[in-house]
Amino acid sequence: MHAPNTPAWDDEPTWQPPAPLRGDARADVCVVGLGGSGLVAVRALREAGVRVIGIDAADVGAGAAGRNGGLLLAGIADFHHDAVRLLGHEIAVAWYRRTLHELDAVFAAFPQCTRRTGSLRIAASDAELDDCRAQFAQLQLDGFPAEWYAGPEGEGLLVPTDGVMQPLTRVRAMAREAMHAGAMLHSCTRALDITNTCVRTNQGVITCDRVIVAVDGRLEALLPELAPRVRTARLQMLATAPAFDVRIPRPVYWRNGYEYWQQLPDGSIALGGFRDTDVEHEWTHDATPSAPIQERLEQFLRAHIGTRALITHRWAASVSYSSSGAPICEEVRTGVFAIGAYSGTGNIVGALCARDAVRWALGRE
Ligand SMILES: Cc1cc2nc3c(=O)[nH]c(=O)nc-3n(C[C@H](O)[C@H](O)[C@H](O)COP(=O)(O)OP(=O)(O)OC[C@H]3O[C@@H](n4cnc5c(N)ncnc54)[C@H](O)[C@@H]3O)c2cc1C
Repeated sequence: MHAPNTPAWDDEPTWQPPAPLRGDARADVCVVGLGGSGLVAVRALREAGVRVIGIDAADVGAGAAGRNGGLLLAGIADFHHDAVRLLGHEIAVAWYRRTLHELDAVFAAFPQCTRRTGSLRIAASDAELDDCRAQFAQLQLDGFPAEWYAGPEGEGLLVPTDGVMQPLTRVRAMAREAMHAGAMLHSCTRALDITNTCVRTNQGVITCDRVIVAVDGRLEALLPELAPRVRTARLQMLATAPAFDVRIPRPVYWRNGYEYWQQLPDGSIALGGFRDTDVEHEWTHDATPSAPIQERLEQFLRAHIGTRALITHRWAASVSYSSSGAPICEEVRTGVFAIGAYSGTGNIVGALCARDAVRWALGRE
């Protein structure tokens, strides 16, 4: 077993975090949070010729972006037919279309750590099978790729445009590229106080004209005005040694997506889920694994996935959920833009929100 709360993705002993900020600094825009979303914002700002400083309280990918299930899925957190009901047809279709384009871009940009395998949504009950049919019908109606699936994993939907990634490799590649291109990134630099003209950190004060806060888990702690609409939850995972007794060609989304797993190229399994089975304890800012959820994951690994492979990693991380179901992309204070609350599915949507926030911060949209 690896050190407690280490994700299976942390496989690069030579990784060097960017240096902490030393003293005060000046930039046009300060990006708070160096997960996938913050790093997309850093890149978009640089491409716009803007002087940007990016800071992280811990390290690049230290939050959910480097500790997640690695599923790359089209759409927002709600299944497409639910999104149509919640947000209206036009908005839901626009989100779905944009995430399809972003998926193409991610697979093209990161061939070393992504695989376009498709994904399965498998029904855990007859009622869920009906819901899969409703999702399938809506996707067909809107002309989005989907196939009906029945196979060893069960019955449900195959979405061929989806895939998987090694999430920590991706965010570290983004950070390296940003630093190589001259972006100023700093680890161990926590934002304590944020206005549009100043980010006070534990290392010094950053003077700037705009701030983009790209923090998913604990967003409402940093920007308390979002607290009524944003709530932080813990999500937990485990991973195994190479499992030669099972073969899982595509990631699986099970029981409405509460459980999700993928088999990595070396055969090991990464499995997450069961947040809803201890829900009051999982609405927490604590990001360490808990025994009840880890026991359920282990039982499911043995009884449902059917592998006897040794468990090597157990970990957790924070994400935030929005009361509307749609992600947050808002100017919460004058010149301070917040993105987050992807409700558990932010690998692709986070990048879209980051680019929207950059355009907005630069007065372009
Ligand atoms: C176990 C788990 C499984 C998941 N599985 C999937 C999946 O398969 N597919 C999917 O699409 N999504 C999944 N998600 C959700 C997804 O990981 C997140 O929505 C996404 O990674 C959020 O990325 P981010 O860059 O927006 O934010 P984060 O990853 O939360 O990054 C924010 C960064 O900000 C830093 N930070 C926090 N506070 C401060 C501060 N005060 N000052 C400076 N820095 C600060 C943190 O250290 C962190 O590095 C999962 C999440 C978890 C936890």
